[in-house]
Amino acid sequence: MSPDFDVIIVGGGPAGLFCAWELSRSDLSVLILEKGDDINQRTNLTSGLGGAGAFSDGKLTLSPETGGHLKDYLGEEATCELIDYVDRLYLEFGAPSKIYGVGDEVEPLKRKAALSGLRLIPVPIRHLGTDRCRAILTKLKEDLGNNVSIAIETEARKVMVEEGTVKGVETGGGQRLSCRYLVLAPGREGASWLSQEARELGLSAENNPVDVGVRVEVPAPVMAPLTDVLYEAKLEYFSSSFDDRVRTFCMCPEGEVIVETTGGDDPVTTVNGQSYSTKKTPNTNFALLISSNFTKPFHEPIAYGKYLARLANMLSGGVLIQRLVDLKTGHRSTQERIERSIVQPTLPGATPGDLSFVLPYRHLTGILEMLDAMDKLAPGVTSRHTLLYGVEVKFYSYRLSLSSVLETEVGNLFAIGDGAGLTRGLVQASGSGVVVAREIMRRAK
Ligand SMILES: Cc1cc2nc3c(=O)[nH]c(=O)nc-3n(C[C@H](O)[C@H](O)[C@H](O)COP(=O)(O)OP(=O)(O)OC[C@H]3O[C@@H](n4cnc5c(N)ncnc54)[C@H](O)[C@@H]3O)c2cc1C
Repeated sequence: MSPDFDVIIVGGGPAGLFCAWELSRSDLSVLILEKGDDINQRTNLTSGLGGAGAFSDGKLTLSPETGGHLKDYLGEEATCELIDYVDRLYLEFGAPSKIYGVGDEVEPLKRKAALSGLRLIPVPIRHLGTDRCRAILTKLKEDLGNNVSIAIETEARKVMVEEGTVKGVETGGGQRLSCRYLVLAPGREGASWLSQEARELGLSAENNPVDVGVRVEVPAPVMAPLTDVLYEAKLEYFSSSFDDRVRTFCMCPEGEVIVETTGGDDPVTTVNGQSYSTKKTPNTNFALLISSNFTKPFHEPIAYGKYLARLANMLSGGVLIQRLVDLKTGHRSTQERIERSIVQPTLPGATPGDLSFVLPYRHLTGILEMLDAMDKLAPGVTSRHTLLYGVEVKFYSYRLSLSSVLETEVGNLFAIGDGAGLTRGLVQASGSGVVVAREIMRRAK
C-alpha cells in the first residue's frame, strides 16, 4: 500500500518551511504538521507557522562559525555555499540589501576589544527586524508548491518505526499518518519532545553545553560605537575566576526585551530580545550567556536550564529585573529604584527582585566580570542604571547523532533545526531544511 505522503515535516519554523519550499521543486507529496496557529493568526512567540523565526529579531548571520554546527556535517565550503543560497532566498522574499560587520571600521574595534580582554568575532549580518521576519516567512509559505499541504494545530506525538526504518507519525488526535521520509523540525518548543522520542527509539545523542545567563539593557548610545558598525557585537570572554566562557548573544540595538514561554506541556518563562526595522526604543539589549559543561556525562541539560528558569518564575511570576548597582551591593531592586533609573525597562511587566537568589555564584561572577571588560570597550555598560533581566536560557543543549545528510540512526528519519541541537539561528536552521530536502529528492529519483 502506498503511504499517505512521500514526506512529512514536523514543525513549520524556518527549518521545516525551507525544507518544504525546496521540496516544492519536486513532485513529491509533502505534509507539514504544525502544532501552533497559522502565521497570521498566531500570538505565541515560539509556536505556530513560521516558528520562533516569525517573531525573531531577524538577524541573518552569514557565517559558518555562528548560528549552528552545520560545518561539522557538511564541511566549510559546502556550508558557505548553503548560507549563500539561503541568503539569496531571504533577499528574494524581501530582506534588505545592507550588510553590517564588514569594512574598514571593524579591525580597530577588534583591536580595542583585545585590549579589554575580549575577543570580538566579526560576522556579516543582514538585519530583517521582527516585522519583516513574519512578512518574509509569509511570502515563503505562499510560494510553496501545490504538492505541499499544511496541517495547522496538529501536533506530532509519536514517531512510527518498523525494522529500523521510519513508517510515519501519530498525531496528538490519534491519527496515524504514513510516509516514506519523516523530517523532525520541532525547534526549541519541541526540543524536550524530540529528546524523549529519541530516547524511546534508542537514538544516540550528545549534550551541548548549557547556556544560561541574563539579558542586559543599557541606553542605546552606550553600545552605538559597536552596533552602528557591527549591528551585533559578538564578544567572547573567559572568566578569570572560573575560566568559563561568557559571550554576548542576540544584541538588539534600539530594541525591546520580551518574554518567551517555551517547553510544550511543561512550559517555563524566560527572557529574550527583539527589534523592529522601523519602531525604535531608546535602549539596546543583549544576552550574556555562560556555557557550562558540568560533569561528564551530563544527561539533563534541558532540565537544568528549566530548573533555573523555574526559580526565577517562582520568585517573580515570570521575569526578574534588577539594577546592576543593586546586584553588586547585595540589594533587591524595588519598583521605586527601577523608576529612578535613567534606563527605563522596555519590558515593564518584569518583577523587581534579586538575581542572586536564582543564578549560581559561578554564573553571576562570570557575568559581572564580562560586564567590567565590556565597559572598557563601550563605557557606560557598568553604569549603576544598567538593568539585568533573568533568566535567559537556550534550550538547544541536546544534540542528536546525525549523518552528513542529517539522517538519524533510523532509516529515512531526518532531524533539523534548533530542536535537534543542530542549529541556533535562522540561516543555519533554514539551510538544514534545504540539505535534507535535496537528499530526499536525490533518494526519491
Ligand atoms: C525572540 C527571538 C529572537 C530571535 N532572534 C534571532 C535572530 O535575530 N537571528 C537568528 O538567526 N535567530 C534568532 N532567533 C532564533 C531563531 O528564531 C531560531 O533559530 C529558528 O527559528 C529555528 O528554526 P526551527 O525551524 O528549527 O525551529 P522553530 O522556529 O522554533 O520552529 C519549530 C516549530 O515546530 C513546532 N512544533 C514543535 N513541536 C511540534 C510537534 N510535536 N508537532 C508539530 N509541531 C511542532 C513549533 O510550534 C514551532 O512552530 C530568535 C528566537 C527568538 C525566540
